[in-house]
Amino acid sequence: MSNVAMLTTPHEEVRDRLPYRPGISKLAYAEITKALLMSMEVHESVVHKQGVEEKFRLKVWNTDKMNVEFVDVLIQKHPTCSCKEFQDRLIAGKRYLACPQIYYVFLMVLGQDVNNSMHIHQDKIAANIVHDMLTQAKRASKST
Ligand SMILES: [Zn+2]
Repeated sequence: MSNVAMLTTPHEEVRDRLPYRPGISKLAYAEITKALLMSMEVHESVVHKQGVEEKFRLKVWNTDKMNVEFVDVLIQKHPTCSCKEFQDRLIAGKRYLACPQIYYVFLMVLGQDVNNSMHIHQDKIAANIVHDMLTQAKRASKST
């Protein structure tokens, strides 16, 4: 039994050393709330490098559902999004806060947990965690 546990958690030691924040900021919760209220879905996803980098093209509807735009979320060591909010944040040097689209991919597509998957609140994610998310996370099945 203990052998099995050792085999399935090879990266535990690495994770323990990461300087994760102890809590989730109010700003992060605001972005998560937006992510859950916005109408969006994955239009397509493209694996750039297996277990390292994957692009999710999201179809995002505006509030009156009249207009649609496509936004690209790139899940990798430094997750990025092509939306204006995130791009403005990059310019301002505030990339530490994920945007609603990035949270959507983490929470609704890759099945991460707001409170337990603390890496989703970081601007830099350890390579082994990115790998686990992209290859082992239980992905949400497409809703109709
Ligand atoms: Zn975004």
